[in-house]
Amino acid sequence: MCLCFVGRCFQMSTQYPVVDHEFDAVVVGAGGAGLRAAFGLSEAGFNTACVTKLFPTRSHTVAAQGGINAALGNMEGDDWRWHFYDTVKGSDWLGDQDAIHYMTEQAPHAVVELENFGMPFSRTEDGKIYQRAFGGQSLKYGKGGQAHRCCCVADRTGHSLLHTLYGRSLRYDTSYFVEYFALDLLMEDGECKGVIALCMEDGSIHRFRSKNTVIATGGYGRTYFSCTSAHTSTGDGNAMVTRAGLPCQDLEFVQFHPTGIYGAGCLITEGCRGEGGILINSEGERFMERYAPNAKDLASRDVVSRSITIEIREGRGCGPEKDHAYLQLHHLPPQQLATRLPGISETAMIFAGVDVTKEPIPVLPTVHYNMGGIPTNYRGQVITHTHEEGDKVVPGLFACGEAACASVHGANRLGANSLLDLVVFGRACAHTIADICTPGEKLSPLKPNAGEESVANLDKLRFADGNIRTSEIRVNMQKMFCSSVSLPSGIHSVFTLSPSPSGIVWNTDLVETLELQNLMLNAVQTINSAEQRQESRGAHSREDFKDRMDELDYAKPLAGQVRKPIEEHWRKHTLSTVDPKTGKVTLKYRPVIDNSLDAEDCAAIPPAIRSY
Ligand SMILES: Cc1cc2nc3c(=O)[nH]c(=O)nc-3n(C[C@H](O)[C@H](O)[C@H](O)COP(=O)(O)OP(=O)(O)OC[C@H]3O[C@@H](n4cnc5c(N)ncnc54)[C@H](O)[C@@H]3O)c2cc1C
Repeated sequence: MCLCFVGRCFQMSTQYPVVDHEFDAVVVGAGGAGLRAAFGLSEAGFNTACVTKLFPTRSHTVAAQGGINAALGNMEGDDWRWHFYDTVKGSDWLGDQDAIHYMTEQAPHAVVELENFGMPFSRTEDGKIYQRAFGGQSLKYGKGGQAHRCCCVADRTGHSLLHTLYGRSLRYDTSYFVEYFALDLLMEDGECKGVIALCMEDGSIHRFRSKNTVIATGGYGRTYFSCTSAHTSTGDGNAMVTRAGLPCQDLEFVQFHPTGIYGAGCLITEGCRGEGGILINSEGERFMERYAPNAKDLASRDVVSRSITIEIREGRGCGPEKDHAYLQLHHLPPQQLATRLPGISETAMIFAGVDVTKEPIPVLPTVHYNMGGIPTNYRGQVITHTHEEGDKVVPGLFACGEAACASVHGANRLGANSLLDLVVFGRACAHTIADICTPGEKLSPLKPNAGEESVANLDKLRFADGNIRTSEIRVNMQKMFCSSVSLPSGIHSVFTLSPSPSGIVWNTDLVETLELQNLMLNAVQTINSAEQRQESRGAHSREDFKDRMDELDYAKPLAGQVRKPIEEHWRKHTLSTVDPKTGKVTLKYRPVIDNSLDAEDCAAIPPAIRSY
């Protein structure tokens, strides 16, 4: 698979063999977002490299269960504008409405494209793509009841999607660099000129020079002790951007999925509730009827997770410790469980010893998704923001998928909107690059010693001589992160950490240490951003600041109210940067984009009180 194009060799004083490559575009990551961007670029004639630390089909996308949203209208009349409304409301009015407009309008096209690539969607009796109910999805701007908008392949949608995209990608001439660990961006004069990576197989260093670099490295769930994401979800792209001095956006918004298996943390899809499953407490009560009288168990994830937490806190938790809830499915026909939810039936048996046709599954809210990430516009271009100049594009740098923050999910992502985000914005990156660049454009010069700092860091980690192992520091960080805000002081331990690897060939301990450094950079920004945000919005919930703090008070008549300036409310994006020497985090803020792409086609949704 590795079709290395070895370009001119640059001088770099290092003990590692250094190989230089030149491409029109380099994509870092081969999950759903990375693959869609990479083959879109190759299709448009760009000489494209895809650098990935995992074999593509092992990316976390493979684990997605429930489905992908699109207003196809196969189950009842639907309109992408209703999907737009639900997503804006689901984001708790922190999402950028131009990006949400773009994503929801493109959704039907994206799903039909996947179908044409051969994705084996579940079907209705008459052969259309089957669509199930999912959290936060409504009809007629919330006035027409529950929408059935989530297209799925039973409960193994991510597996199908990733394999479909991978199969498709093999049609094109993309050069894959598999099991290459991207270390850093190559930045010069504010422009991204490619990435530097470590080949894990032989320890060689590779510099990928390119006019266009796309980051699609996924989320960073592994900052937490218990989460649904893969061990490899370590936020490497976010950390690379941070080390380049660029901001990350809204990292305080971390989604807890309401139904992780109690104890194990494995995901039980929201599709269970979409198929008719219900949550019950120790008294056998369907408690969501109290918290969300209309949407009930299909309220958005932040609302359901908080409700479970309240039930447990008020003494109605299940089990001997009264510390979880039950997800009941055994009232559903066994045939429906076998055809629509085969994967979770198996998972529940393996990880909870539960036969879902007879007993409920013990569940607990579990860390699942990062709404925040690398800030981009709706075209996938990475941006910075200053008060004076507004949003500014970083030349040569793009991001998509869970690593990016477009921001379509705002303060809370709706289930089945991430797989959609991957394919829509993966494709958008390819389209934008095709709009602003032509294949074969000459590369601007790169300093001969570019990437030197990354290699120095590698050496520092390899030859550290202390006695604390990476795994110990990682567990400490994960536990600290769960329980307190003492991390800012803890972050320094990673800079003086003392692992014991020295070889360079397949040194997985070294790679895990690099990942731990990256996790730390994500963690410290998340904690600082969360500490600073003095309100509760979407997934960000504080006991000491229980209300959402907008520029207007939507509980009162709006006429006559004066909009507060940006300094005095919290309906704004957080932008965080980290000082490389001290680990100190600096926070700035950016206004939310309240306009859709075309007001005539799709009216923007002004903020309102959010209830389900
Ligand atoms: C259990 C589970 C179930 C889910 N179910 C759904 C669902 O039903 N519907 C939905 O919409 N969403 C779902 N989600 C969310 C969604 O699946 C993820 O947000 C999405 O798959 C992320 O895709 P991605 O392409 O951004 O990144 P990933 O799929 O995580 O891929 C990241 C890629 O980056 C590469 N990479 C990372 N770091 C480096 C590095 N340093 N160097 C080189 N390569 C690197 C990896 O090799 C990998 O290829 C689910 C998530 C989980 C965890």
